[in-house]
Amino acid sequence: MIKLPLAVLLSLSCFFATAATIAQQQALTYLTKLTDSQTGIGAREAGSKKAQDTADYIIQTFNNIGYQVTEQHFTFGNNKTSKNIIVNSDIDKKNTIVLGAHYDSTAAKKGSLGATDNGAGVAAMLAIAKTIKNHNNLDYNIRFIAFGAEEVGLQGSKHYVQSLSNDQLDNMIAMINFDTIAGGDFVYVHSAHSTPYQCAKNQTNYNADTHIRSALLSASKKVLGEKKQYIIHPEYPGYPAGVTGAWSDHAPFACAGIPIAYVESTNFTINGKNGFDGYSQSTHPALWDCFDEANNTACNRQTESKWGNIWHTEFDNLTKLSKIFPKRVNNQVTDSVTVLIEVLTKAEQYFSVD
Ligand SMILES: [Zn+2]
Repeated sequence: MIKLPLAVLLSLSCFFATAATIAQQQALTYLTKLTDSQTGIGAREAGSKKAQDTADYIIQTFNNIGYQVTEQHFTFGNNKTSKNIIVNSDIDKKNTIVLGAHYDSTAAKKGSLGATDNGAGVAAMLAIAKTIKNHNNLDYNIRFIAFGAEEVGLQGSKHYVQSLSNDQLDNMIAMINFDTIAGGDFVYVHSAHSTPYQCAKNQTNYNADTHIRSALLSASKKVLGEKKQYIIHPEYPGYPAGVTGAWSDHAPFACAGIPIAYVESTNFTINGKNGFDGYSQSTHPALWDCFDEANNTACNRQTESKWGNIWHTEFDNLTKLSKIFPKRVNNQVTDSVTVLIEVLTKAEQYFSVD
């Protein structure tokens, strides 16, 4: 064992603390740039000029970090265009782990700027990609994908998965989806539903494995502690504990046989409009006409109009959210940055990477 002088040890520990802190601060800078309508881009609906501006910003950011960027163009709907933006940490490695986040937003007419859905996911992904660039000794490739046009039918992720060869699919060992990782009362991690999604052409190929979810649970416990770690949602009708539906970019991957995990912040303890389904993100009274704390639902279920919703509403806006929940979005974004840096730099400690 080599004994290092105390001063060197202290400066090394400072270096690691600083690297993590820099990544966290970086994520918040990206988040403001992506979602602030005054100083950044703001709403960016699929197919719009603002969505193109967002793609340009993501490409430029990846380039500045030092990645070689692949743009995957596609059309959808009535001749609209979008693209996926893809970078790799080490394309020469056999096996690949994907971290994906969609960059389009929706409900601009209702005032949503897509701060939590999904500026937060993209900002965290970019900060993680920046940190990973300094780790060049990993045994696997990490692929970061910013998906276009998720809100209009998972267009980007469907297009991406369809473009993969059998070899590429065989060598993809995990897909982690960041979609609305901040804003809600709790941060959950899900696996694919045990009943195959409709997109699974071949049900024997469908992958509902839970080991990537378990990996994120363990890593989050290690780096955030028991109080702040990711959790899994309890069972609710149609949904066994910890599983999720096909409503985001993880679905095409699960259908193609890739093990997935999906990080989502919401609140499954609320009896929302359609029950305990995670569509109410928070109990905060500002997000309800009237919230009944004793029963965790609306005071009047017939007349309630807000239902604790953040995403796809005027509340999906950094300024409004920071008034309701000081520091929450920032803390949840930086927590996920920390968790994913842990998992992606030490994946072999959490699941098989062979
Ligand atoms: Zn989303």
